[in-house]
Amino acid sequence: MAKKNIDWSGIGFGYQKTDKRFVSDFKNGKWDEGRLIEDDKVVISECAGVLQYAQTVFEGLKAYTTVDGHIVTFRPDLNAARLEESAKRLEIPPYPQDKFIEAVVKTVAANEDYVPPYGTGATLYVRPYIFGSSPVIGVKPADEYQFRVFTTPVGPYFKGGAKPITIRVSDYDRAAPHGTGHIKAGLNYAMSLYQIVDAHNQGFDENMYLDPATRTRVEETGGANFLFITKDNTVVTPKSSSILPSITRRSLMYVAEHYLGLKVEHRPVEFAELKDFAECGLCGTAAVISPVGKIYDHGNEICFPSGMDEMGPVTKKLYETLTGIQMGRIEAPEGWIKVIK
Ligand SMILES: *Cc1c(COP(=O)(O)O)cnc(C)c1O
Repeated sequence: MAKKNIDWSGIGFGYQKTDKRFVSDFKNGKWDEGRLIEDDKVVISECAGVLQYAQTVFEGLKAYTTVDGHIVTFRPDLNAARLEESAKRLEIPPYPQDKFIEAVVKTVAANEDYVPPYGTGATLYVRPYIFGSSPVIGVKPADEYQFRVFTTPVGPYFKGGAKPITIRVSDYDRAAPHGTGHIKAGLNYAMSLYQIVDAHNQGFDENMYLDPATRTRVEETGGANFLFITKDNTVVTPKSSSILPSITRRSLMYVAEHYLGLKVEHRPVEFAELKDFAECGLCGTAAVISPVGKIYDHGNEICFPSGMDEMGPVTKKLYETLTGIQMGRIEAPEGWIKVIK
């Protein structure tokens, strides 16, 4: 076994086929044992539930090499639990959580040569998902499903440092109250594509979604939770039942409180409060934190004091502590790091 000949620091955030993927089928009311296969193609009915009515849920996590040379993943138990929650909401049979972790471990181990070396900033992105594979024409759940895990090496999210981004307040909504905003389902992304393409065309990096009922509170972007720092260094993250519970956000809140001794608040955040915050960031697995410098709202701009040149000081400390924990430079809380090899 030898590492693949890849320019680790030069790869982008795209799909690149690796050697093995894990597949398990749900038939006659139960999941089979599952297996690693080489074929990257999925063959299903033209009338499969996923193709007609978008019956699919997914997860995203990373495997990477720590400073002492181990291959690890970060809190995969939380991905397993979240996939179960997502599946239940779309009438998909949940994949057993212990089997989920086993599948992730097996898939990463089988693609070990694609796990980027320590220090490159690159990681092996892991994508578990479940979809309805049997034919469905009347609206109902499929009878058969497939659970798959594939991996793809991805480059450092920020090439040449994390530059603050500009976000605009979207005229569209992401997730209705009592809808599906809190689950990781492809359908939440399909309906966000129009808005994200439009945002890019208008020169913005991302959309900020407000609560659809009152349009007075901050929810999240299409794929990341918000994190704000007050002028007296309290870490504030928006709370709402239609926000996707980011594992990165939950980990950062823990780090803020227990490693950095900061006050943390997980509560509804009014849009009107934003002008009083000192720093803003987006959190998710891909970037850990992307700093936000500016929010554009229909002709009005909110410019955070941290500016457009670099991450705010508290955001940066959070970023460095969490990535330090992930990379094995700082001791992790019990159970956060799953060693694969
Ligand atoms: C995946 C996702 C996030 C980030 O979650 P992590 O577990 O931190 O990767 C945030 N918002 C949405 C809508 C997501 O789909």
